[in-house]
Amino acid sequence: MMISLEKLVRPNIWSLAPYSSARDEYSGKEAHVFMDANENPFNAPFNRYPDPLQRELKAQLMKVKGVPEDMIFLGNGSDEAIDLAYRVFCNPGQDNVVAIAPTYGMYQVCADINGVEYRSVLLDDQFDFQADKLLAACDANTKIIWLCSPNNPTGNSLNRDEMLKVLDAFGGIVIVDEAYIDFARQLSMRQELVRHPNLIILQTMSKAWGSAAIRLGMAFASKEIIAIYNKVKYPYNVNLLTQQQAMAMLKDPFEVDKWVKLLLSERVRLMQAFQELPLCEKIYPTDANFFLARVTDAQRIYDYLVDRGIIVRNRSKIQLCSNCLRITIGSHTENNELIAALRQF
Ligand SMILES: *Cc1c(COP(=O)(O)O)cnc(C)c1O
Repeated sequence: MMISLEKLVRPNIWSLAPYSSARDEYSGKEAHVFMDANENPFNAPFNRYPDPLQRELKAQLMKVKGVPEDMIFLGNGSDEAIDLAYRVFCNPGQDNVVAIAPTYGMYQVCADINGVEYRSVLLDDQFDFQADKLLAACDANTKIIWLCSPNNPTGNSLNRDEMLKVLDAFGGIVIVDEAYIDFARQLSMRQELVRHPNLIILQTMSKAWGSAAIRLGMAFASKEIIAIYNKVKYPYNVNLLTQQQAMAMLKDPFEVDKWVKLLLSERVRLMQAFQELPLCEKIYPTDANFFLARVTDAQRIYDYLVDRGIIVRNRSKIQLCSNCLRITIGSHTENNELIAALRQF
């Protein structure tokens, strides 16, 4: 039961006349003399502005993800899609968003940057959530509910039925961050897009696709929402090198499948070895390429590992995560090195 998009989008954004770049006004293929964008004729191919809508890349993504091109937004990492959500939907000083806690820190950072109230609702002791509790934290000014599944830093997938309940009951936008979905047993929520015009799904090439350096994040949503995102984004927000490298990666999705399988089997091995360490108090179930573990003394263990050149993430200061370390699954030898070091702690 989504409120109309016109009521959800900020009035200034709804009525915005977007910047029209040279490449927007002419995008045909037949021309061979380009004197419209004040580009330099030398230093091809880097002299030309890249496609502002990344059409070739989206055509390839459509085949891999099964989402039509006009339902895909591409940005400078998922972080761009997160920030855009606030700029599109939330009136500063007036609107608010609701999120699970603990979760990915960028949702709150972007809320703070945009002057938007951020309301968090603590997860239960299984790190899962109840739709009713999230909905109870909403009011007439709540524009967005943030969900992250598998969740960071906890690693678990959220209960799908509860996520669907939120989608059905909430009139605003529900954003499901699926940065780790390629590692998960749960299916992506992509197939729910047809039934839920208020759903935005975030994915990224930074994790399973092994391409954090190129900064490519994706948002999947209704074509109406994507059109508004395209209006607000920087005209050339994804550079040519990123578009080319992403297309090279997408040509061989089976390579990614191999990495994922390998990382999942390494995850089993690393977690088993970790569990037997005297310093391990509890390992939480995970659906991602990392796991959260409660240890005897997170700060001392963290410092000890830093001294040995091994960096894990100390999440001790986060609600529900006291004495917890978040450990990313590395290569076979990296995982061995971590365990060998911890056995000597
Ligand atoms: C790593 C991560 C991302 C990825 O962000 P990028 O900007 O695409 O690199 C997004 N969401 C979550 C929850 C993450 O952990």
